[in-house]
Amino acid sequence: MNQAVGIGLYVCSHCGEKLALQEFNVSRKDNLREHYCKKCSREYARRYRSSKKLERVSPEQLSPRTGYPVITEIKDPDVRMALLLQAKARVRQMCLDKRRRQRETGDDEPSDCPEKSSR
Ligand SMILES: [Zn+2]
Repeated sequence: MNQAVGIGLYVCSHCGEKLALQEFNVSRKDNLREHYCKKCSREYARRYRSSKKLERVSPEQLSPRTGYPVITEIKDPDVRMALLLQAKARVRQMCLDKRRRQRETGDDEPSDCPEKSSR
């Protein structure tokens, strides 16, 4: 497909897809289409909201030891889920780094990172 952007097709400035006008939200303010397609603006809004939620974590919910929120003490299920996902990604990255270091150094000390989550 080597078609030029046809009439009525607009490029989403986020995903770069060429989409029809109805795939974009129209700003009520100035009646112009938004630069992000509906899919991208939904995604953007979702991320924005979850980052806002994280800001709602009060300092007393942070663990004095790690400086990270104590997930189990957070009442809001959405915030808890966002934190859990964040923590999971962090642990996973640490495990990957550790395993790579072990491979590089030839250190065969058993890793305390399970290959797969048992749950
Ligand atoms: Zn898009």
